[in-house]
Amino acid sequence: MDQSSIPLIDLKAQQVLIRPALERAISRVLDHGQYIMGPEVAELEAKLAKFVGVKHAISCSSGTDALLMAMMAKGVRSGDAVLCPGFTYTATPELIVMLGAMPVFVDVAADTFNIDVTRLDGGLWSARRHGLRPVGILAVDLFGQPADYSALGAFAEREGLWVIADAAQSFGARQYGRPVGSLADITATSFFPAKPLGCYGDGGALFTDDDTTADRLRSIRLHGRGSTKYDVVRLGINGRLDTMQAAVLLEKLTIFASEIEERLNVASRYSEALCETGVHPYVLDGATSAWAQYTITLPATRRDHIRNALAEQGISTEIYYPRALDEQPAYQNCLIADGGIPTARSLPRTSLSLPMHPYLSIADQKRVIDALLAAL
Ligand SMILES: *Cc1c(COP(=O)(O)O)cnc(C)c1O
Repeated sequence: MDQSSIPLIDLKAQQVLIRPALERAISRVLDHGQYIMGPEVAELEAKLAKFVGVKHAISCSSGTDALLMAMMAKGVRSGDAVLCPGFTYTATPELIVMLGAMPVFVDVAADTFNIDVTRLDGGLWSARRHGLRPVGILAVDLFGQPADYSALGAFAEREGLWVIADAAQSFGARQYGRPVGSLADITATSFFPAKPLGCYGDGGALFTDDDTTADRLRSIRLHGRGSTKYDVVRLGINGRLDTMQAAVLLEKLTIFASEIEERLNVASRYSEALCETGVHPYVLDGATSAWAQYTITLPATRRDHIRNALAEQGISTEIYYPRALDEQPAYQNCLIADGGIPTARSLPRTSLSLPMHPYLSIADQKRVIDALLAAL
């Protein structure tokens, strides 16, 4: 085939659009020279808080560090158990283990890929049987769709747990009209370049409405600093977002809302074309996805064949994720919720993510759809 190839994501189209503004923004940082905690950082935090409609947005060094800081702020420690989905990126359970606590993998729903709220009880039983104290739920908004936060919140309140949102993939999505960032006690997101809102390096942010939590997060971001520079009141990390990345994000934020609109358009075109096949993803009533990925589920026996057929036509696809977490060597000692995680175990063999970004042309998307329908 001599057709041009279609990448999974395309960061260049966006850059072309805002390149002059980006260059001016970077020059301003070079001119003032405040590379750490410069004025762009505070400006970005104010704009992020306004975008989400919460009191506090705290920028930080990555999505991974955002999760670490969120759980440090909750005081997660040895003897604690944290419920999280069994099908997600490794950063989700990684920080639970790092803090000496125990992840309890809970199954995900086959249609939304997110933690199955009907399986949370099984997570509590498993933790308690092993003598651990369940303290919270680390939910993940996989592929861009918010987890079911109203159900999670009700469960958490009844059981005395906190809810932290791993919203690394869902910044820009909504649930019942409320933006991601306002749906959990603390929300952690990532500005890794390929995420819906990405910078040109590593970056992340935390969102909360609680003043005490926000103070704690800001202190943790600065090595546990108290009211003066050499006052260390708790353990912390170096978790700052650098000024260059804040400057880049400020420019990207100006077009972010329209990019999210375009992502919704691309996703609707896919879902309309695929509606008869039953392979398309499902979004809960009252929710929107930020469509970090457009992920379909195929019969396990045909998935790789279909993937190859698309590759032959120059169409990139990806498998997120090729293994359930309990199958990874690093997580062999973690707990599994009672009832098991059959869906988390089957998705690595059935899921396939299609090209998805705000600048995917209708013509290119038609090529993906035609190739997929032919292969099906
Ligand atoms: C990307 C991602 C992270 C980590 O974000 P980084 O900025 O790369 O550290 C955490 N959780 C999920 C679900 C992610 O997709």
